[in-house]
Amino acid sequence: AENRTLAGAGLHNNDDHINLEDHERDGDVVEVPEGIEVCIGNTPLFKIKSLSEETGCDILAKAEFLNGGGGSPKDRVALSIINLAEEQGLLKPYSGDTIYEGTIGSTGISLATVCRARGYLASICMPSDQSTEKSSLLLTLGATVERVPPAPIVDPMHFVNRARTLAAEHTADPNRSGRGYFADQFENEANWQAHYNGTGPEIFQQCGGKVDAFVAGAGTGGTIAGVARYLKARLPKVRIVLADPQGSGLYNRIKYGVMFNTKEKEGTRRRSQVDTIVEGIGINRVTANFEAGRELIDDAVKVEDEQALAMARWLVEKDGIFVGSSSAVNCIAAVKTAREIGPGNRIVTILCDSGTRHISKFWAKAGNIGGKTDSKLEDIISP
Ligand code: PMP
Repeated sequence: AENRTLAGAGLHNNDDHINLEDHERDGDVVEVPEGIEVCIGNTPLFKIKSLSEETGCDILAKAEFLNGGGGSPKDRVALSIINLAEEQGLLKPYSGDTIYEGTIGSTGISLATVCRARGYLASICMPSDQSTEKSSLLLTLGATVERVPPAPIVDPMHFVNRARTLAAEHTADPNRSGRGYFADQFENEANWQAHYNGTGPEIFQQCGGKVDAFVAGAGTGGTIAGVARYLKARLPKVRIVLADPQGSGLYNRIKYGVMFNTKEKEGTRRRSQVDTIVEGIGINRVTANFEAGRELIDDAVKVEDEQALAMARWLVEKDGIFVGSSSAVNCIAAVKTAREIGPGNRIVTILCDSGTRHISKFWAKAGNIGGKTDSKLEDIISP
């Protein structure tokens, strides 16, 4: 562990965990922390070589896919939500208490693992158009899964509304043990606070306080809000940039102060979120977690599906980085931000989850990676 830190890899280099002085010693036996929770947070930050060389900026990636519960930043959120609910006396471990959540997948997977670690059950509602890797994984982890047809947020069968209803039904049912608790990641402020208390300070420290821009997409908005609030308080000049996939309304909200009008398309096509192959980011309503950081967002970049697919391939071909669609969107926006603010700047973005979670849909479209390629970055980022 010490070597890793010296080498700058920083894998889970929380001083609490590797600094021998911090541990009580009993003879030669060093106390080792208990539980999978220790693998959540303290993710590495590294420079993406190809993109940094091409742009003359430091393009830095926070490797959130290495979180050790469900393999995404949502591990932090799951822990934060559970901790808050326990503090409020709303959850009791090993009592049959069940956490219900509406999620496109990542938060469900994080809850399915973190709940087990903390003595709860997880029941997940997700739209049926999301990749099957995620629903199969949830079932493997022992979560209850209900896949509901993609629907607008006003529909009671929308995955978020359905989860809220199931939680209430559980609590009201005298024949069931424990209570139902609706995690409510879109509105629950324990979400952005997880990033304010974890992701933000880690980025600040790992960068030695030099960050010129932070770029991230928003699904709930928790990541961008929490990190923006932490960084802006310390670095008032830091530029916060929203990376938004095609079809999402947030780009227009930031650029022009209005949401994309979704009404005109309702009825013709029932959509879970937005019309894109990208999973996990992009939304057509403003949530409490997005609102928590909205005023701190300086700019937005719209990313087309084709750009995300090409960037995902590029990251494997040039750097051996195998990630999912939202990470690719973030990297396109990071490069565009670099072009905007010019060389010599340091731009941090998030790699949210691994490509393995997106084989059947996003990567099936991106295609297998062949041998050497001569793709040009300008071709990828140009609209
Ligand atoms: N990437 C992926 C794969 C996700 O599942 C999510 C969360 N839905 C995000 C990015 C966005 O994170 P946030 O909810 O904090 O905006």
